[in-house]
Amino acid sequence: PGARSETVFGELESEVRSYCRNWPVVFDTARGSRLTDVDGRSYLDFFAGAGALNYGHNPPALKKPLIDYLTRDGVTHGLDMYTTAKGEFLETFRDLVLEPRNLDYRIQFPGPTGANAVESALKLARKVTGREAMINFTNAFHGMTLGALSVTGNSMKRGGAGVPLVHATPMPFDNYFDGTVPDFLWFERLLQDQGSSLNEPAGVIVETVQGEGGINPARIEWLQGLAELCKKHGMLLIVDDVQMGVGRTGPFFSFEIAGIEPDIVTVSKSISGYGLPMALVLIKPEIDQWSPGEHNGTFRGHNPAFVTATAALREFWSDDALERSTLAKGEHVDEAFTRIATDNAEAGITVKGRGLARGLQFEQPEQAAKVCAAAFERGLLMETSGPLSEVMKVLPPLTVSDDELDEGLTVIAESVRTVVK
Ligand code: PMP
Repeated sequence: PGARSETVFGELESEVRSYCRNWPVVFDTARGSRLTDVDGRSYLDFFAGAGALNYGHNPPALKKPLIDYLTRDGVTHGLDMYTTAKGEFLETFRDLVLEPRNLDYRIQFPGPTGANAVESALKLARKVTGREAMINFTNAFHGMTLGALSVTGNSMKRGGAGVPLVHATPMPFDNYFDGTVPDFLWFERLLQDQGSSLNEPAGVIVETVQGEGGINPARIEWLQGLAELCKKHGMLLIVDDVQMGVGRTGPFFSFEIAGIEPDIVTVSKSISGYGLPMALVLIKPEIDQWSPGEHNGTFRGHNPAFVTATAALREFWSDDALERSTLAKGEHVDEAFTRIATDNAEAGITVKGRGLARGLQFEQPEQAAKVCAAAFERGLLMETSGPLSEVMKVLPPLTVSDDELDEGLTVIAESVRTVVK
């Protein structure tokens, strides 16, 4: 019975484990927007694999093709050999994602996780431009490998890992100065300052909505200004869509809202649709300057993930129904959160977000974790984010039903009330 009790994990697993500390139960099965623990208790999941489960747990439209593929002994591991599963994914991605949006990208499979995609994007930007420095943003999060950590603007996430490998200069993210300093003034001055060592950065890496940084949406005009600035200074624009892509903010890519076309895009988390490891780097054709084998890795191209990713695109991205429902559900959450902020005015709550990436920021940072703990007691899973963990973060599956969404929002309202009163 070891695997059914918590103690075995405490004895055998590294202290680095984290989420289980907030949710000290052993989960066993999951379907749609719910998980079930070994005691049969059900939890509504507004965490959704930190954005890796945009279509919920075990979505039936993906499960059947996966089972069929395994049943016929489809290739599972094939490094980056040509396989039917990969070919179908590439064509489906072109037909359902790129062409309808008039986007032209070549697709790289950099390895299984978001951090692999970020590493690859940083390396390519440096190779293509022949420059080394990178610009990142305050509060950014890009992953746990050393290159990705170097462009992560949160010293807590760096832990004891030490000196950044990549020379990265953090610039103020949108709204950093609450509108008191004109957009990009600081940025432009440093770029022109011969003494700042910033004169010729290779590129800029940005999230359109910072996820781990506390659900901070950049304004459309700020994103457009950033794209222009990149053009003007010959810097490549890398949009990290690992968390906000695949429909989290409504459209497939989070940058579509600004009408910009990044030079490089990183995608992971929900792209396989089934919680299977998969990542993409999208590269403008003219800068696809990789030589064969220059960025390799054993798990580039996980064929069962290609199968579920293809099924997910066909099921959810053949029309704009998911985008429209995500935007409507997002508005609904925003209204409910605004009511919570008004009803608990003494807590100084700020409502944040875009699409179905939403957050409540608390003036007293510790209240966010307390609300998450109170919600867990009521059977709702959520995590905190932000530099002080001051934001209660909500990322439900995009497929959450209206009733489940309301159930979760009621739990959040009750939990906030118990914590702030
Ligand atoms: N970029 C962003 C924006 C992320 O949110 C994350 C993960 N939270 C990553 C990169 C890293 O992805 P992974 O954990 O799959 O390496």
